[in-house]
Amino acid sequence: MQGNRDTGTNAEPQLDAAVPPRHYWLPCGDQVRHAFRGRRWMHQEADTSICGLHVSMHLPTEAEWFIAPTCQDCNRALKAVATP
Ligand SMILES: [Zn+2]
Repeated sequence: MQGNRDTGTNAEPQLDAAVPPRHYWLPCGDQVRHAFRGRRWMHQEADTSICGLHVSMHLPTEAEWFIAPTCQDCNRALKAVATP
């Protein structure tokens, strides 16, 4: 039997599928994954999330992507925008 050594692709949950493409998610200083306007994180130190929180930002570790829960307020706000 051949072991196919897949390096564990921790694919993102499909939660973001309905979200417009010009948002991105980032685990923040409060250990929650918030959504932000823009295409990607531009390495700014802090920003205001979709849910209106001013949070600190840093390059998230794999663990942070894994443990940080998706902010439900951001999620709801984006869904509201996406719905005509
Ligand atoms: Zn949020």
